[in-house]
Amino acid sequence: MELIVATKNKKKLKEIKTILKGFGLKISSLADYGALPRVIENGKTFKENSIKKAVKIAQATGKLTLGEDSGLCVEALNGGPGVYSARFSGKGKSDSQNNLKLLKLLKGMSLSKRKAHYVCAVALADKGGLVGVVEGKCNGLIGFKLKGRSGFGYDPLFVIPKYQKTFAQLGEKIKHTLSHRYHALKRAKIIIKKYIEKR
Ligand code: IMP
Repeated sequence: MELIVATKNKKKLKEIKTILKGFGLKISSLADYGALPRVIENGKTFKENSIKKAVKIAQATGKLTLGEDSGLCVEALNGGPGVYSARFSGKGKSDSQNNLKLLKLLKGMSLSKRKAHYVCAVALADKGGLVGVVEGKCNGLIGFKLKGRSGFGYDPLFVIPKYQKTFAQLGEKIKHTLSHRYHALKRAKIIIKKYIEKR
């Protein structure tokens, strides 16, 4: 069965493919399709945005579609950047510019004030509309400097307390056993399994 992942983010797609490996799905993405409607991510929550992505692309293609929306929530920033994580330092800015902005805003704050978590919302939809939506979370701390090369986005700053290392230092294998994306997709797999059984 085909599952379209409604994303253009290659690194995110790679993570989703790895986590869903062995599940018997033929995974495609927006890159495998021609012109599709643009999804405007103006939701106030991760779930809202993930639903928008899944429903719009499923409507246009008629196929089971996975919409994913994720981001970083920092306690000292009242949960920000949240749904604005990708464009924290402005539209079209790079991951490293976002990381530098985060470091600047947390400058002088002790580790106890640097609590953060990643959130990932995953929605599934088909031509009939929304099938289900789930969320996953991963707790951590924002480090004092960039460390490691693996992953993407805020991973060089996102420290997992148990390992005292960033996701970018820990590498993909460990990230995929702990991450917000792993937890959300674990729940999404249950929905997909039921969906396939019902057909
Ligand atoms: P989206 O494409 O609107 O969902 O943007 C997600 C943004 O959140 C990314 O561009 C990253 O800045 C951040 N983000 C989400 N998940 C991760 C992750 O696993 N590692 C690092 N940054 C992430």
